[in-house]
Order: sequence, then C-alpha cells, then structure tokens
Amino acid sequence: MSVTNDLLNTVLRHAGQEVSRKEFLNLAGRGLAASVAAGTLAACQGKATSGAAATTPTTGTPAAQVDASTTYTTAGGQQVPSSEAVSPPAKVPMAADKPIELEVWKSDVDPKSPPTPTPLPPEHRVGYALVGLGHLTLEELLPAFGACKKSKPVALVSGSPEKLAKVAKQYGIKPTSCYSYADYDKLKDNPEVQAIYIVLPNSMHAEYVIRGAKTGKHILCEKPMANSVRECELMIAACKEAKVKLMIAYRIQYEPYNRLVRDMVRGDKFGKVKYIQAQNSQSSANPNHWRHKKALAGGGALPDIGLYCLNISRFLLGTEPTEVFGYMHSTPGNPLFQEVEELMSWQMRFPNGVLVSAITHYDTHDSRFYRVNAERGWLHLDNGYAYRGQQLTTSHAEGPAKLQNQITIGANNQFAAEMDHFSECILENKPPHTPGEEGLQDQRIMEAIYQSAREGRPVKLPPVSGTDVFRGPEPKVG
Ligand code: NAD
Repeated sequence: MSVTNDLLNTVLRHAGQEVSRKEFLNLAGRGLAASVAAGTLAACQGKATSGAAATTPTTGTPAAQVDASTTYTTAGGQQVPSSEAVSPPAKVPMAADKPIELEVWKSDVDPKSPPTPTPLPPEHRVGYALVGLGHLTLEELLPAFGACKKSKPVALVSGSPEKLAKVAKQYGIKPTSCYSYADYDKLKDNPEVQAIYIVLPNSMHAEYVIRGAKTGKHILCEKPMANSVRECELMIAACKEAKVKLMIAYRIQYEPYNRLVRDMVRGDKFGKVKYIQAQNSQSSANPNHWRHKKALAGGGALPDIGLYCLNISRFLLGTEPTEVFGYMHSTPGNPLFQEVEELMSWQMRFPNGVLVSAITHYDTHDSRFYRVNAERGWLHLDNGYAYRGQQLTTSHAEGPAKLQNQITIGANNQFAAEMDHFSECILENKPPHTPGEEGLQDQRIMEAIYQSAREGRPVKLPPVSGTDVFRGPEPKVG
C-alpha cells in the first residue's frame, strides 16, 4: 500500500506541472506502472484507491495476473504471442493548449509531423448557431466542426422544418435549439449559443447580422460581407453598439499555403514583388439560383468568386490599391447572365508600382490560381482559393539552371481554422484577424471596379497608408 500511495502522491504533487511519461514510469518502477495508472485514473475521477486492489483500467484483470507469454488469435486464425501493453515515453504538459509530445521515431530526413491536436473539452468550446442550411453549411461547415478544437455547433436556423429535424439528429443538436427564420431573434435566450454564423444569400447578410447583434451574440458572417458599402457600415455600427465581435469568414487567410506565400512575399523571398496574376472561375448552370439574381447576390462572378483574387492580393501585399480598371461582359441571350455579370476582368494598382491583374468567370471550367511575379523568381499557387488541394510551385535561377520547386506543407481544414480563430477571439476577448472593416474595404474596391467597368475608365480609391490596416492581430494557425 505504501509504495503505491507514495507513487500516487508523487503524481498528484506534480499535478499542474509537466510530468513526462518517462519520469512517471521511472517512479512507478518494474511491474507497478499498471496499478499506478489505475490509481491515477481513479484520482482523475475523484475516487480514492487502496492501491492493493488496483486493476488494469481496461480489462479489470488484476495487474499481477497479466501474462505476456499467452497467445492471441488474429482475425485470420493465426496464433501470435500476446504483446505486453506499455506506454512509450511521452511528454504530457498539463496546460490545455500545449500538445502531448509522443516518442520520436522518424529521422530529420523526412518532414516533421505536426503537433498533436489540443482540443478543448466540449463544455469549454464556443457554441455556434448556424443560420442557413445550404451547400456551404451542410457540405463544409458542419463536417468541419469535427476538426475544431474550440468550436461546436449547438443551434440551427432554417426555413425547412424537415431539414432542421434531420440535420439536428445528425449533429446531436437539441430540437429546442432549432429555429425558423421568424424565431431567429429567440437565439437571445439560448445560453448555449455564443456565436452566430450567417450562411445565407448575400443580400440577407446585413439584416441577419444586425438582428443577430441585438441578441448579444458574436457574429461570424460569410463573404461577401454584403451588397453595398452602406450595408457594411451599418453592420459594423450595429455590432459596435451591441458590443459584440464581427468577423468576416475569409477562410483563405487561415489556410497554411496562402499564409506561407504571404510570408515569402513579405520576406522578399525572390526580391520585390512586381505584379500578381489571379484567376478564379467556375461554371454555373441554374439561372433560378439566387447567385443569378442581382437583388439577392449583389453581382455575379465578382462578389462570389472574384472576391478571392481581390482579397488575396491585399492579404499578400498588406497594402491597399489606389486605382482600379475593370472590364465586364455577359453573353447576350444567356439566361444565366440576364441580371449578373458572367466575366469581370480588372487591374489594381498598388503602392510602389505593383500591379494586380485578375479575372473571374462564371462560365468556364473550374480554375483557381494566382502567380506572384517577383524580381528573381515567381510563386504559383494552384487551387489557391479552393477548399483543399493547394499546390505551391516556385521558380528561380541558379547559375545556368532554372529551378522549379514544388513545396508541400501540412494542410488544414480552413473552415475549422477560421471558426476556431473566432472562438479564440471570443474566449480571450481579442479582435478578429478579419473583422468587418476587412469586408468593408473589399466592398469599396468592388464598387469601384463595377463603376470603372460601367464607365470604361480607371477609378481612383482613397489612399490608405500603413500595412494590414483593416486586419486584426495575427491568428494562431496550426
Ligand atoms: P445555398 O444556396 O446553398 O444556401 C443558402 C441557404 O439560404 C439555403 O439553405 C436557403 O434555403 C437559405 N435561404 C434563405 N432564404 C433564402 C432566399 N430568399 N433565397 C435563397 N435561399 C435562401 O448557398 P451557399 O453556397 O451555402 O452560400 C451561402 C453564403 O455562403 C453566401 O453568402 C456565399 O457567398 C457564402 N459561401 C462562402 C463560401 C466560402 O468558401 N467561404 C463558399 C460557398 C458559399
């Protein structure tokens, strides 16, 4: 009894400090690790153990009776010696945001594994109400919560009772936390909801952000922020007045490849950047969808997908454009483009003579890339704005050779990273990295591009001095 209790006391004395697995096993000594593990487990559960009666945690077999020489029958019927259950050395920091460090087995020749995830216990995560159960919510956001460490879905808002019932069952959301649009304001009385995520057609963002702010919950709103500068300003003002945070869901600013390119650009990896080419295009087929109705979508390809070319250029460079020149086209007679543009091609002048040339299209095969051209090399990100599958290539000269390198880094779930960043801002009371002001600036620039395309001349923008002036502090992106 005394040996086990001494060990248990030693473990408990270290509670709140770092206890390595190696130290732990050393303390436990030969043959006692299993009984101490059981004692520790019981201590974690708030139970006292008497040491002598300790059993293995999984089987309930007395520790002393485990016999390493017994055999085990595999699924294929083969008899193999039973393995002894041991835990190899691991460093187990007690702080919630420090990853457990497992025993190393790979050499430095291969890329390092990312740190083990550090999810918060579910009861400490920020609860989200998802408003709108369409493509983005069902295909990406709800599944992404599975990769979140600080965020969980707790409520749903939809106009379809059937969809609400099915999705609530799938994701373990209480029937009492399912709301119609008419009942949206009742989110105010749901203490499990700390954040509202607006995933509705663009024209509805302003109304639902402003009403949402009045519930006292923090607001994450999909891009584009709204359909006009005026709406964006009202949304920012409403959230300020209600003292709630507002973030625009610019997922690519939380995506590791785009962040790496940003760091290379800002670090002059291949000298000064001279110009950027950006393209985001896809193919539409349903003229009745809200994306093809001006009143709901605000515009066509530009605010929906061209926005990524605009936002990434501002993110990479950190500066703001001073002048834009746009060219717009819609094929006459095509029912898809009666109200919104099919094509927008535009140039943006940035400080120091940097030029961005961008194009977006609603009637060509999926193509989403940008290339940053610098003095001594270029960086090309294919699938730059896609949900996944980014491919980064760089090119530069070394002596007589032109080297093209493909760089592979760990991917993340951008939606999970974006939601967890917002949750962290709520938990730690910090401003978001992509606040309402970031969405407002994109809207200002888009309005100037439309004006230029309509009038057939360049349009100047008010000069903005400084770097990253519309962004909040750097997010922690794992
Ligand atoms: P969607 O059409 O698939 O879903 C929209 C939802 O809104 C549906 O559930 C629909 O029933 C509901 N809705 C409520 N009122 C409506 C109305 N009057 N007309 C039409 N639908 C109505 O759209 P989506 O692709 O999920 O896009 C939703 C928002 O998310 C848009 O703002 C879009 O720009 C944005 N989005 C962002 C990304 C991203 O990568 N961040 C990707 C796709 C969409």
